[in-house]
Amino acid sequence: MLAKLLEGKIVADKIKEKVKNSVLSLRQAPVLASILVGDNPSALAYVKIQAKVAQSLGITYKLYQLEQNISQDQLIDFVLKLNADTSVNGIIVQVPLPPDIDYMKICEFIQPNKDVEGMHPTNIGKVLFGKARIAACTANAVMELLDSIGLDLYGKEVVIVGHSEIVGKPLAMLLLEKFATVTVCHIATSKAGKLEDHVKRAEVLIVAVGQAGLIKGEWIKEGAVVVDVGINHLNDKIVGDIEFESAAKRAAYITPVPGGVGPLTVAILMRNLVEVAKAQQSTKS
Ligand code: NAD
Repeated sequence: MLAKLLEGKIVADKIKEKVKNSVLSLRQAPVLASILVGDNPSALAYVKIQAKVAQSLGITYKLYQLEQNISQDQLIDFVLKLNADTSVNGIIVQVPLPPDIDYMKICEFIQPNKDVEGMHPTNIGKVLFGKARIAACTANAVMELLDSIGLDLYGKEVVIVGHSEIVGKPLAMLLLEKFATVTVCHIATSKAGKLEDHVKRAEVLIVAVGQAGLIKGEWIKEGAVVVDVGINHLNDKIVGDIEFESAAKRAAYITPVPGGVGPLTVAILMRNLVEVAKAQQSTKS
């Protein structure tokens, strides 16, 4: 392997240390309300990690586990209740939601100043204008990773694979803010047979699809910075979307999976919570 590992844990630990100190400076411990619908195993695993990290930082984590058959309107009512609860600083809705519930619709009802995931249209709009205090946690995690190696994104050819609302789209906006030249690929890019060509010219490659082995190691440009956001369960192992071994022979930096983006996402969620709690306290005083 030639590539250096881009490990999220190191960056996450630094963020968590700052969050811990910020929590101490608040009048009250901040409260994160977490809504989990049903018992999806990956959502349950994520909730466990969030609760553990929150506890270690002095943050109160309140989990609300709701029935799988809850209707969209009932879930919206639940969110409205948490909006009105002044003891709650931040609200997170765990995904995946049942198929008949529209995640983005639910996010519209989270009060923007309690939206710790940056998914309310107001907060998404602020990302577009380059004025975001709170941006999507995973997109932000990728930016922190790139920043941790002092990468100057100005004029860099950056290729993102995956155009979801939680990763690819907000990430494209954050990268444009740094004057990177951004290409966003998705399913239609693959269907048009053009994915390989785009990936091959990426100086920075970020992949968030959810398909093990989608990106072949030989497609990686020599010396590229490679971030694999994908999480796939393969033969009892967790792997990303990129063929790691062969990609690591060509890249300058590459994230391991697990241990790359994942640990940072949770740290940024907690940082966002402290940000909103601070803003709420300052409007009260
Ligand atoms: P999503 O399902 O919302 O979006 C998938 C994207 O991949 C879409 O843009 C789709 O067009 C594209 N796509 C699908 N097949 C493709 C193909 N063959 N070629 C090119 N593009 C293709 O996914 P998401 O919620 O953004 O998550 C993506 C992956 O990232 C998943 O594995 C998820 O588990 C992982 N993830 C990780 C973290 C983390 O903290 N590490 C956070 C969020 C998501």
